[in-house]
Amino acid sequence: MFDKILIANRGEIALRVLRACRELGVRTVAVHSEPDADAKYVKLADESVCIGPAASAKSYLNVPAIISAAEVTDAEAIHPGYGFLSENADFAERVEQSGFVFIGPRAETIRLMGDKVSAKAAMIAAGVPCVPGSDGALPDDPKEIVKAARAIGYPVIIKAAGGGGGRGMRVVHTEAALINAVTTTKSEAQAAFGNPVVYMEKYLEKPRHVEIQILADEHGNAVHLGERDCSMQRRHQKVIEEAPAPGIDRKLIAKIGERCAEACRKIGYRGAGTFEFLYENNEFYFIEMNTRVQVEHPVTELITGVDIVQAQIRIATGEKLWLNQKQIVISGHAVECRLNAEDPFKFIPSPGRITNWHMPGGPGIRVDSHVYNGYTVPPHYDSMIGKLIAYGDTREQAIRRMHIALSEAVVDGINTNIALHRELMLDPKFMDGGTSIHYLEKRLAERDNTAKK
Ligand code: ADP
Repeated sequence: MFDKILIANRGEIALRVLRACRELGVRTVAVHSEPDADAKYVKLADESVCIGPAASAKSYLNVPAIISAAEVTDAEAIHPGYGFLSENADFAERVEQSGFVFIGPRAETIRLMGDKVSAKAAMIAAGVPCVPGSDGALPDDPKEIVKAARAIGYPVIIKAAGGGGGRGMRVVHTEAALINAVTTTKSEAQAAFGNPVVYMEKYLEKPRHVEIQILADEHGNAVHLGERDCSMQRRHQKVIEEAPAPGIDRKLIAKIGERCAEACRKIGYRGAGTFEFLYENNEFYFIEMNTRVQVEHPVTELITGVDIVQAQIRIATGEKLWLNQKQIVISGHAVECRLNAEDPFKFIPSPGRITNWHMPGGPGIRVDSHVYNGYTVPPHYDSMIGKLIAYGDTREQAIRRMHIALSEAVVDGINTNIALHRELMLDPKFMDGGTSIHYLEKRLAERDNTAKK
């Protein structure tokens, strides 16, 4: 096991990684920006290093500062968390070239999966079902583009190869709008991601977002930990996640999970990872792979009993996978609500000082948050202040426990989306399970209309 790990992140995931390290007996180095200096997890770490001012570009994305922090503290490995540098292949390469272990896949795997066109090609080659679409990048010739769209059938979606975070996508319903949409998406992609390459997919009208969690070691072993349903989204951002996905045939999950594990073996994947799919009419369609730990990993931890962050660390030491597929048993149901510092109706970020913070507890409740009484939510970063996760023997019990937990939670001084989550836990369609990725936005629009009347 490593002696010391540097945590190259902030907020709840920095605390989550810190806890995993402490349990494994690994010492920790927290790096932080100036406004994060007083955060509790920074104080809990064995050592801490300030890596720059508030702006992420000068701190959490400051590669030389992070590498030198690892050097001065004698850390052996670097955990990137999620967001920031976690899927940056150049960073992973720099880490390893500087003599540290990057807790994640090899740089070349991150590069392969970071480009959605090459990722899709690799998945097709590995036998993972993908959304029908253009054969790789779209050509320049407008005639060829029209031909590709006709072959796929409208509506189609134009997506940037380098896209992420729900940006760089455009839905096209008619041939008349096609070429214009491709041209606009290309120039937006160039501006946002420095890569003008776009591709085309069939636009699925009412899919669910269902993803498969995998673990793979560097010795060619891989298992899957089942699926998560993350269909409750707003602006392509997940709001509520759960596991298992309600109403999907377990045999189908086992089949698609094994395909993902096999793809990992084929591409030499290392670490934890997620295959994201759209699910419609009993079919899975791969859209992208995340080569890092995800925000929603706790729901899988609760139904499998596997600590995914500790698994990442153990795999990074070179340990052979200690679990085979038969040993992974799914039991019960878990739901996660992302708590954001934002207005529950207008979604405007609400940074500031938290004057009163009281989190629930009791059977089946887990709170992953770095926040405490008197903590100031800085305006410079993502608005997520924590996650509330509820476990139950059944989905009904997990949702009920979540509703009770949300009604016990007190956060004063800033706005949060707790009120929205409370509403959603009583929403009849959500309670039925299996809503599509458009359901939440539709529900929010109806809520706005009712408020106006
Ligand atoms: P990002 O990397 O930006 O998150 P994804 O490829 O994962 O991009 O897609 C994000 C979201 O966009 C999906 O969860 C889904 O809501 C929507 N989406 C992407 N591709 C399609 C498609 N072919 N049909 C319908 N919706 C899609």
